[in-house]
Amino acid sequence: MTTAQTVGTEYDVRIRRADRLSLEYSFASEFLNFYKHVAAFQKTLRARIASSSGMKSSGTHAAEIRDPLDLTVLLPHFRGFLSTIEQRAPVALRGAVREMSLLPSDSWMASLEAYWEHGGKYDQQIGAFAQFLARSFLQPYAEFRAALTPKPPVVTTMRVCPLCGARPLLGVLRPEGDGGKRFLLCSFCSQEWEFRRIFCSTCGEEEEGKLPVYVAEQLPHIRVETCNTCKFYLRTVDLTKDGHAIPLVDDLAAVPLTLWAHEHGYSRLQPNLLGT
Ligand SMILES: [Zn+2]
Ligand SMILES: [Zn+2]
Repeated sequence: MTTAQTVGTEYDVRIRRADRLSLEYSFASEFLNFYKHVAAFQKTLRARIASSSGMKSSGTHAAEIRDPLDLTVLLPHFRGFLSTIEQRAPVALRGAVREMSLLPSDSWMASLEAYWEHGGKYDQQIGAFAQFLARSFLQPYAEFRAALTPKPPVVTTMRVCPLCGARPLLGVLRPEGDGGKRFLLCSFCSQEWEFRRIFCSTCGEEEEGKLPVYVAEQLPHIRVETCNTCKFYLRTVDLTKDGHAIPLVDDLAAVPLTLWAHEHGYSRLQPNLLGT
C-alpha cells in the first residue's frame, strides 16, 4: 500500500467512526454528520497536497511543521472548501462562511497565515467557530508536515507538542500491561506524545487529590480529567474501555461533557474543531 492510500484510509476510519457515533449518540448527530463532510474534503485535500509536494520536494530536506505555507498548493482549493462548508455547516457557522467567501483572496491568505503561526497556542481565547475555517482547512496540511518531521526524543512532561509547539487537544489512554499509558494528542498537527498519568497538562499540578476524574454514564470511555488548582480540564479518550474509539472523532461526540464541565466551573484549554 502506498502512503497516499494509507492516509486515505486514516480519513476513512474517521468518517466511519463519525457515522457509527452519530447513530449511537443522537445529541451529537448534527455535529458528527457535518464532520463527515469536513473529513471527506480533508481526505481529498491531503491527497492533493501529497501529490503536489511529491513533485516539488524531491531531493530537498524535510520541512519544519510551521515553515511558511505553500499557498500555491493550498489556495486553489479554498473556494471549493468554502462552498462545501457553506452547504453542510450548522446554521451557526454558515454566516461566517458566507462572509469569508465574499472577501478577497488577500484576506484568505492573511487568515490562513495567522492560524498557521498561532494556531493551537491560545485557541481558547479565540473560540472554536472564529478559527474553524482556517483550522479545518489546514489540518490536513499540518498532519502532512508532521508525518514528514522526525520525532524528537521522548520527554514525558512536555506540556506542548514537541513537534509544533501547540497545546494538547486531548489525552489518550492506550492499553499497556494491566492499565493504560497516557499520551497527549496535539490540537494542531494531531500527533501524540507520551505524558505522565497523574500530572495536570495545564499547570503542572501533580497531587492526585487535586486532580479528580469524572466519567459520565453515557460515555464511559471518555474521562474528564479536572484540576482543582487551575480549574482547567483535559478530556481523555480511554482506549482500554473502547478499543474502537478514534480519539479525534469520539471527542466531537462528547457534547454533554462540555456542558457538565462548564456547569462545574472547569474550562477546556483547547476547544475541538466544533467547540464541543
Ligand atoms: Zn503538534
Ligand atoms: Zn492544573
